[in-house]
Amino acid sequence: MSPNDLRIATKAIHAGQQPDPTTGAIMTPVYMTSTYIQSEPGVHQGYDYSRSGNPTRTALEANLAGLEGGKYGLSFASGLAAENTLLHLLGHGDHVVSARDVYGGTYRLFEQVWRQLGVTYTTVDATSLVEIKEAIQPNTRMVWLESPSNPLLTCSDIQAAVELAKPSKAWVVVDNTFATPILQQPLSLGADVVLHSVTKYLGGHSDVIGGALITNNDELHDRLRFLQNATGSVPGPMDCFLVLRGTKTLSVRMKQHCENAMIIAEHLAAHPEVERVYYPGLENNPSHAVAKRQMTGFGGMVSVELAGDFARNRRFACSTQLFSLAESLGGVESLINHPASMTHASIPKEERERGGLSDSLMRLSVGIEDAQDLIEDLEQAITRSKSPRTGEVVPDRENGMADQVTLKRAC
Ligand SMILES: *Cc1c(COP(=O)(O)O)cnc(C)c1O
Repeated sequence: MSPNDLRIATKAIHAGQQPDPTTGAIMTPVYMTSTYIQSEPGVHQGYDYSRSGNPTRTALEANLAGLEGGKYGLSFASGLAAENTLLHLLGHGDHVVSARDVYGGTYRLFEQVWRQLGVTYTTVDATSLVEIKEAIQPNTRMVWLESPSNPLLTCSDIQAAVELAKPSKAWVVVDNTFATPILQQPLSLGADVVLHSVTKYLGGHSDVIGGALITNNDELHDRLRFLQNATGSVPGPMDCFLVLRGTKTLSVRMKQHCENAMIIAEHLAAHPEVERVYYPGLENNPSHAVAKRQMTGFGGMVSVELAGDFARNRRFACSTQLFSLAESLGGVESLINHPASMTHASIPKEERERGGLSDSLMRLSVGIEDAQDLIEDLEQAITRSKSPRTGEVVPDRENGMADQVTLKRAC
């Protein structure tokens, strides 16, 4: 049976995994070693130093490649380390076309790190092929998509974007963190590189930070592999082990995340106290058709704005009990996040609003608890958020720092 013929739930468990050759241990051991003996100078069994390679990491990289249907996987110390390594392919004078609605840290990396090094970029509404097309310049080297996006859950037509990028030979990068390979495989849609924050669904248990890049392109892989070693932002063996443990259950977890998120999105969409729900699984969502075509499920992230003002939405975020108020997403437990003051605070308010991200928006990472318990929690929080509590400080909308402080105090 060729590993490539296996279906994804099987690959999640078996891709890149072999029983340990010395003991037969079924789980990949955590090779806690920095170096490896050599029988003569330069002669070793494939590993010489753990920045360059470690067997636990090799197993994870092969597993991630298998899941994305790619030839090569590389893992990194964080999602941003993976992004930063990828951006090292570029230099002064190069240009990137990026989706406007991306993870806040991605925006910060472009704006506050790579722009200073002479890499320019244009942000676009990546659901619009016209905007992508018009933004591509002669020096455009990358088209950067995040689909579904964070936190508005918009979806870009990956195949169409690949066609648009072809004439300029720009690489199409897809941040597949929200979809995971269970729901969407960008390489099969023509993307050049798939990026992950494995911190999220792939790890799946909120206990590890990591990132990954997967590609089918030999030359790109060679350059990225070189950069991984040359710049050194590699994960440790224990982190690799934790992600490998996570990916084994990815398929079943994603089924439950999708099922729960759909139940919650539908419940909220029909709720009189709810202004707007963002979930690509809802038929009236502008990204529904694209999502349906290129994904096999709609994912576990739902964003919502309750009716009423900013303060009411803020009270809502402070009133949930099962949904913990925290950054991050993709773990088995449900989380609620206020992008404007938390994950996306590094994006200026005008830029956030230009992209349609209002200060009232709350992002839910729907976990795999019983959906009914989650609904009951949201219900009590919606009710409790209706009226101000005694002594509540009305937050200062204009001041980001004050926002953060009052959000915590109000909780
Ligand atoms: C979290 C996240 C990242 C950054 O990953 P880290 O592991 O936190 O460095 C990148 N993209 C998306 C979509 C994310 O959610």
